[in-house]
Amino acid sequence: MNEFKPLKDAYGRNITYLRISVTDRCNLRCVYCMPKNGISLLSHNEIISYEVILRLVKILSNHGVSKIRITGGEPLVRKGLTGLVESIGKTEGVDDVSMTTNGTLLEKYALELYTAGLKRINVSLDSLREDRFRRITRTGELKDVLSGINLAKKIGFDPIKINVVLIKGINDDEIIDLIYFARELDLNLRFIEYMPIGGNITDTITSKEILEKIRSEFDDFNPIPPTAGNSVSKEFGFKDGRAVIGFISPLSEHFCGDCSRLRLTALGNLRLCLFYDSEYGIREILTEQDDEAAFEKILDIVQLKKYKHNFKEKAKQRKSLLWANNFMNQIGG
Ligand code: SAM
Ligand code: SF4
Repeated sequence: MNEFKPLKDAYGRNITYLRISVTDRCNLRCVYCMPKNGISLLSHNEIISYEVILRLVKILSNHGVSKIRITGGEPLVRKGLTGLVESIGKTEGVDDVSMTTNGTLLEKYALELYTAGLKRINVSLDSLREDRFRRITRTGELKDVLSGINLAKKIGFDPIKINVVLIKGINDDEIIDLIYFARELDLNLRFIEYMPIGGNITDTITSKEILEKIRSEFDDFNPIPPTAGNSVSKEFGFKDGRAVIGFISPLSEHFCGDCSRLRLTALGNLRLCLFYDSEYGIREILTEQDDEAAFEKILDIVQLKKYKHNFKEKAKQRKSLLWANNFMNQIGG
């Protein structure tokens, strides 16, 4: 038997987590993620096939990648996704499959996804007010997302994590309401700092500012020990244990030192970091090479992963906060 060879980068970090963007298409147009109009979307022939995705998962899971997240665009707009979830979950070596969704189609698909083996989901929800929700998503209906979350809770998804991006002057006054909402349903709420990729927001709010607001409202709000396998979110909880509140601060407090991530874009490119534009096409490697040759090529690409992102230096040079050439829907967040 061959000796186990982990997918390790040049800095000795084991890559164990693959985020797969299954589509760049979305039924919403969130202001921080996609432009209102004029974005060019991939054609059906350009989007990476499920077959090739599964091949990648199979190859990498033989080399230590055990955690897979399905994202997009909106993953639930792609046909046949449940089948992909099921096949990924059954792949030897994969022990955790999760999905990030905007929740608008969750009511329709929650049960079949759960039956297919998906037990953990993240739902993006930035406002509990209908008019604001529509302003942020440009086209969405809040009630669809809320019914999706409620059904997912009833079915037994655990944990359900709610992803919130706060924008000053738009929804930053809902921090406390969102916390009460999470506590009522005993959900896990995560505040994600806005990243200047694609969207064009200039007035942002840091995790530290959010934390201060929460501390001024609750006096039993304290850090809790990190959960296994979580290196990106700093978590807090309340005395009664209802709701976990996490802070993801890629810009103000980057967590690159522990990075174990690799991203596959909807076009079939490997992206080594959200904050570097470089992507490496692997479609041909996956369709033309045998498993071990394909793995060696991917390992070579992974050696190019930088130690940390250089957002601050880059922003100074460019005099602008917006630097990536892609939109977040193409990379998958
Ligand atoms: N459509 C799905 C959704 O919205 O959950 C999955 C894809 S979306 C790109 C994944 C996550 O990235 C979402 O939680 C979204 O809020 C977040 N996101 C998108 N653009 C962002 C940005 N510029 N800064 C921070 N988070 C962003
Ligand atoms: Fe679509 Fe998700 Fe981007 Fe919103 S954040 S536009 S739901 S991909």
